[in-house]
Amino acid sequence: MTCTETKRLLSLYLDGAVHGRLMGQIGDHLAACDSCSQEYALLCQVQRSVALLRRRKAPPELTLRLQVALSQEAARARRPVWGGLSVRLRNSAQSFMWPATAGVLSAVIFFGLLIAQRCSHRPLHAARA
Ligand SMILES: [Zn+2]
Repeated sequence: MTCTETKRLLSLYLDGAVHGRLMGQIGDHLAACDSCSQEYALLCQVQRSVALLRRRKAPPELTLRLQVALSQEAARARRPVWGGLSVRLRNSAQSFMWPATAGVLSAVIFFGLLIAQRCSHRPLHAARA
């Protein structure tokens, strides 16, 4: 077995996921190869260090946040497809109505002023007729 093959399988070997003949080959290679045995020793040390780490406790509000998220997702799944669409259309119309109203109002004011100006400059002979 080559060093490359052995190093690729070291993690599995460490976890005990390698059995039978392959396990024997790796063990034989580790006994004969300093480079691979050093890497294996390093992996063992990392595994021991990780095992010494304490498990962090979940924050107390995590349960509540998960329940809220689940209930929101359940409510979203229960909502009819067209219900969400009607809300979106209503919101779009509300955001569109203010500029449209302002545009119509400004057009009325502009044409009102234009008509008032035209009427005030009417020629005199037209008024006599
Ligand atoms: Zn080796």
